[in-house]
Amino acid sequence: MDSGVFGLDTLNRKMDSLILSVPYDHRPIIGIGGMFHGRYTAVQSLYVQAVEDAGGIPLVLPVIQETATLLRYSNMIDGLLLPGGEDVDPRFYGQQASPKMGEVDLRRDYYELQLIRIARRKGLPVLAICRGMQVVNVALGGTLSQDIPSDSLYIPRVEHHQKSEKAVLEHSIKIRPDSRLCQLLGQDLLTVNSFHHQCVRQPAPEMRITAEAIDGVPEAMEGENILCVQFHPEALYQTHPEFRSLFTDLIQRSQKYAEKSLKEGLGRAGEQ
Ligand code: MN
Repeated sequence: MDSGVFGLDTLNRKMDSLILSVPYDHRPIIGIGGMFHGRYTAVQSLYVQAVEDAGGIPLVLPVIQETATLLRYSNMIDGLLLPGGEDVDPRFYGQQASPKMGEVDLRRDYYELQLIRIARRKGLPVLAICRGMQVVNVALGGTLSQDIPSDSLYIPRVEHHQKSEKAVLEHSIKIRPDSRLCQLLGQDLLTVNSFHHQCVRQPAPEMRITAEAIDGVPEAMEGENILCVQFHPEALYQTHPEFRSLFTDLIQRSQKYAEKSLKEGLGRAGEQ
């Protein structure tokens, strides 16, 4: 698009020629989990921008409870990005709410728990961030710590709820050398930002913790085509390019999924 100001006639002429001439776009479509924000369906623009910058087509998926709708969503996308947000209701991992628990939204819980189950079933690639990591763990049968500072399992040596802004690095993490994350970053030590008071406690049977802070709080978790991180790469990749690889990895995995679906006549390709 022109960066200059142009009128409707110019725009329409441009569009008439583009509509006829632009070739089919094969970039993978990445569904981004939505949330309620007051009367709005919302998603933070940083996630949308990160997907676009990494070479994917972002598609915000509104919070809907109907399984049939979520299955249709899953046919329209080649990968799934689960963003940060509220706490997950502890009923889904068999616990009573602690007084330290933050806000929860059952509608969003039901929606994401279903999306994760569908994604796992179909082998849809997933990148889960912050709450995303926690909800993946719950969906697959793990538990959470409802509040890190009041959980005696963790010695309070690290500030996980940083006061500085999102692009500031707060604490270091140690990454398992045999993990996908280590492979992507090319290093086993990393400094990350941190905006959480909950964390994965007992990992789900099929998931493996692949990074921890020095207090033992899990900062990354991996499973079959699922990469979860507790920090916020979407707020970091523009100033700290090493975090970009998390998004390009999602796009590459989604591209593979799209090609496989096309061959097998499944998913998005199957709907055309
Ligand atoms: Mn942290």
